[in-house]
Formats: sequence, C-alpha cells, structure tokens
Amino acid sequence: MPGILTYALHYEGAFNKNSLGAVSEAGKLAQQLGTEAHAVVVGEGIPDDLASQLGAYGATKVFRVEGPEGLAQPVIDAMAKIMTDNGHDYALFGGGLLGFEIGAGLAARIGAGVTMEVTQVNVEDSKLVAERPILGDSSISESRYKGKGIIIGRLNAFEMQQGEGTATVEDVQVELSPWSTKAKMLKRGEQRGADVDIEGADILIAGGRGLGKPEGFETLEELAGAFGGNSAVAATRAVVDAGWYPYAAQIGQTGKTVAPKLYLAAGISGAIQHKVGMQSSENIVAINKDSNAPIFEFSDLGIVGDLNKIVPKLIEAVKAKKGG
Ligand SMILES: Cc1cc2nc3c(=O)[nH]c(=O)nc-3n(C[C@H](O)[C@H](O)[C@H](O)COP(=O)(O)OP(=O)(O)OC[C@H]3O[C@@H](n4cnc5c(N)ncnc54)[C@H](O)[C@@H]3O)c2cc1C
Repeated sequence: MPGILTYALHYEGAFNKNSLGAVSEAGKLAQQLGTEAHAVVVGEGIPDDLASQLGAYGATKVFRVEGPEGLAQPVIDAMAKIMTDNGHDYALFGGGLLGFEIGAGLAARIGAGVTMEVTQVNVEDSKLVAERPILGDSSISESRYKGKGIIIGRLNAFEMQQGEGTATVEDVQVELSPWSTKAKMLKRGEQRGADVDIEGADILIAGGRGLGKPEGFETLEELAGAFGGNSAVAATRAVVDAGWYPYAAQIGQTGKTVAPKLYLAAGISGAIQHKVGMQSSENIVAINKDSNAPIFEFSDLGIVGDLNKIVPKLIEAVKAKKGG
C-alpha cells in the first residue's frame, strides 16, 4: 500500500516536538488519502515502548533501525530502503537542519521531487500538493509530484496532535553505505546558549552586532531569565562569526528557523538572511537606534533607541510585572 513515511528524531528517551508534528501531519494526510502513515526511528537499542509511542501521533507502523542516531546519512540509507521495499509515495519531515539534510539526500538517492520550507500540505485528486511561500512570503507556490515526493516543512509548521493508539514496531536491517559510517557522533550535548532549544522556545531574545561586545549577551540572558518559562537567547550570524555567542543559537538562512510567540531583536539590522529564519514568529519586537533599519519593516512593534538604555529598563519592568 502506498503511504507516507516520516523520520522521528529522539534524544534521551523523548521524541523532539518537530518530529512529532511531522508524524501528526502525516497521520492526518494519510487518512485523507486512504493510506497509512509510517515512521522510521534510528538508534541503538530503542525500546519498544518508545518506538510505539508514535502511534499516539498517527503512525500505524514504526520501522526500527539499529544505527547511529542524529546523523543524516544513516537515516537516508534507512529511509531509501524502507521506501523502496514498501512502496511509500511520500516522505514528510519537520523543518530544522537535520530534516533539510535528510530530505535533500533522500530525494537525490531515490530520484524524488523535493520541496522545502513547506507551510501547508493539501490532498488533491488523491495526491499531495505542497504549498511553499515564495518572494518574501508575498506569493505561494504549489508543488505536485510526478513520482515520489519529499516534503520538508518549515520549522514547527506542522502541529503536533496527540491522540490514542500505539504503532506496531518492525525491525529492519539496513546495510549502511560506506560513506555513512565516515562521520561519528562523538557527543550530543549542551553548550552555552544552546541549553534551551531555540527552535522550541516560546520567547526568543535575539542579539546582534549592535550589542557592541560579547558581554551584551549577559544582559539578554538576564532578560530571558526575567521572562522565565520557555525563553532562550538567540543570535545573528555576524556575532556568531565573531565568536560572541555559539553557532547553535544562530537564526537565519545558514542557522536555524524559529517561530516563537515573541521574538525580540536587540541591535539587529534585519538582513534578508536573518529574516528568513524568524519571519514566522507570532510577534516581532525590535530595538534599534537607526529608525531606517530594515528590521522595522517587518516588526509588529519597533523601539527606536539605544539598547544599552532600553534593555535594562525592560528587565526591570518584566521583573516588576512578575513580582520580583
Ligand atoms: C550566504 C549568507 C548567509 C547568511 N546567513 C545568515 C544567517 O543565517 N543569519 C544571520 O543572522 N545572518 C546571515 N548572514 C549575514 C547577514 O547578511 C547580515 O550580515 C547579518 O545578519 C547582520 O547581523 P547584525 O544584524 O547582527 O549586524 P548589523 O547588520 O551590523 O546590524 C547591527 C544593528 O545594530 C544597530 N545598533 C548598533 N548599536 C545599537 C545600539 N546601541 N542600540 C540599538 N541598536 C544598535 C544598528 O543600527 C544596526 O542596525 C548571511 C550572509 C550571507 C552572505
């Protein structure tokens, strides 16, 4: 039976939110197509109860592959084999760097069409049609597939929906390509600024070159701390390249795509390569001393002024509002 295959990334016994969104979307679309949604998990000794959890998000079957988790090439090997053996028509991924890398590699491997940065998927004539915003989000382009189709969402474009049900788990032996074993995951862990996942944060305080010096990030961390909850600090490429903040916190074309409820930019000009990574944020607030800074063109609220004066006042105000 043709169907939709997704990949679910896990870390320390839990699936990531973006993967669960993709599994949920695949489950919903499979129902509309009259087919099934399946998922692939790759890792060492993944327990049954973890793999079968994906059933609650819409997967009817989970293919479990023994191999290194968190690297793209082994997942491409696994998905290419599973799609070919089982006749899946589509593969669907949440956004994020790993999804982009796996999706693009898989498309090349099996000769499928691929669409990235997809914000919506529809069913027409028993086929999937992917919608992708183009030209600075002023138009929508639609992708249809002649053969197999790979659909990669924008980060968090697909909503996670938890219901009932468990999935059957099927073990699959996959022979990894020689190049897939060249890279090894030495360590998955945390670094400063990356201990809160910026892709999953509800409030993001982003800093740019306007901070003037690396220590400026300490003030932004204090502001994020004042907000509390699911808040994190992010950065532009200019400051990441300068070594002021870790790469893991970079937003943009060559960084991460984020869509928090609140995105607050301090000392960021709003270059197109930065904008593409944060434009889906629900509320955009920018502080910049230059009233002509491009970021004001796509901000919901713009504050023209010196961040060195405004950010400390904001910290005080947020703390006062929170009662401490
Ligand atoms: C191929 C390519 C890929 C790229 N990928 C990315 C990417 O993924 N992410 C990314 O971010 N960039 C990326 N860039 C770089 C991008 O073009 C910009 O150079 C970068 O985003 C600028 O960073 P910035 O806003 O921190 O710095 P700037 O552009 O230098 O802006 C600093 C801003 O701070 C303001 N400012 C200065 N002092 C103060 C103050 N005291 N108070 C308030 N405001 C102040 C200034 O008015 C200015 O607007 C990429 C570029 C290329 C060519």
